[in-house]
Amino acid sequence: MSTPMHLDPVKGRYVQMDEIEWADFPEGLSKGGIRWKLLNVSPEMGAWTAYYKCPKGSSFAPHVHIGPGEYFLTKGKMEVRGGEGEGGSTATAPGYGYESCMALHTETYFPEDSEFYMTFLGPLNFVDEDGNTIALITWKDVQDAWEATASGG
Ligand code: ZN
Repeated sequence: MSTPMHLDPVKGRYVQMDEIEWADFPEGLSKGGIRWKLLNVSPEMGAWTAYYKCPKGSSFAPHVHIGPGEYFLTKGKMEVRGGEGEGGSTATAPGYGYESCMALHTETYFPEDSEFYMTFLGPLNFVDEDGNTIALITWKDVQDAWEATASGG
């Protein structure tokens, strides 16, 4: 008995993380030399998964998570939504966090060398101080950025 086409599951994927090179994360969206590895994109879910290496003092530019995201901080410290002192979270490795739909991350800051895994559902809306969109980053943009930098070309 054959399964109808539309019920075929999406193929799985395995990534040997130490066999792919780090790429520079786009400077317009971060500062301080953040590097990353894109592990997966899931067009049917509008989702993607990446691993980030964030040097001490680095940060991501302000953005809104249009959909929720989950992270696993494997190393270091990450201040989310201003960190504990400002009503947000300060994650210390090993730490897990769930960021809800429409979470505003004014500055995600790394006070020490850190690494984390994160899966994103839906796009990231990078915004200016007034909340205006600078760049709306979908799974496709993420994949294009990865392919542009990871290939070295
Ligand atoms: Zn964020």
